[in-house]
Amino acid sequence: MRLINSLISFHLRQTCPDSKARVGELNTPHGVVATPIFLPVGSQGTVKTLIPEELRDIGIPMILANTYHLYLRPGIDVIEKMGGLHKFMAWDRAILTDSGGYQIFSLARNGAVFTGQGRHNIRNAAYRQVEQPVDPDCGCYTCGTFSTAYLHHLFSCNELLAYRLATIHNLNFINNLMGKARSAILNGTFSSFQDSFLAGYKTANEQIRLNQKQKWLKSQNISE
Ligand SMILES: [Zn+2]
Repeated sequence: MRLINSLISFHLRQTCPDSKARVGELNTPHGVVATPIFLPVGSQGTVKTLIPEELRDIGIPMILANTYHLYLRPGIDVIEKMGGLHKFMAWDRAILTDSGGYQIFSLARNGAVFTGQGRHNIRNAAYRQVEQPVDPDCGCYTCGTFSTAYLHHLFSCNELLAYRLATIHNLNFINNLMGKARSAILNGTFSSFQDSFLAGYKTANEQIRLNQKQKWLKSQNISE
C-alpha cells in the first residue's frame, strides 16, 4: 500500500510474471478504481453527450477533467459557489484533474466505432444496409437495440443521437477491454491476451485515418 496523500492510496494487487503488467487499486474518497483503467475525457466537466447515470451504468469509476479549461470557464469561483466539481456536474465517483496539453482525439464524434476487429468509420457507405449491430459481441445498449445501418443513417444526417449511441458503445467496449486486460494480468496471461487481441484488431491505414481526421476537423471549422 502506497499513500499518495492523506486521502488517496494505491495498492498493488498483482504483477503478471511474463509481461510485468500490473493490476492495482486506487482508493479515493469517491470509490475504489481498479487499474489499469481507461478514463473518459470530461475536460469541460461533462463526458460529451452522456449523463452521469449512463456513465455509471457502463461501469465507469473515474473520469478525467481539465483544471485549466475549468479555470477559464466557468471559473474556480463558480465551481466553489456550486459546492465543488462533483456537485456541479452531479458525478459522485472519482475525478482525475490535470492541466496538461495532451488530449486524445475525440471518439465518438468523427464516426469512429471500436470493435474487437478494429476501428470502423460508420460513415462509410459499406455500412448502409448492414442489419447486424456494430459489434455483435457487445452487450451495450447501442448494440442491443440498433442496426449498423441505423447508426450509419444517423451519422450521415449528422443527428445528435449518432454521437450518443457511438459514445455509449465505445465506452462500453474500451471499459470491457480494460476489464479483460486486468483479468489477464491477474491470471498471469497478459502476453497471450495481448497477442490474441492484436491478431484480431486491424488498425486503420494511417493515411486514411489522417485524411478522415482532416475532413472532420474541416467540417467542424477546427484547424490543427
Ligand atoms: Zn456495443
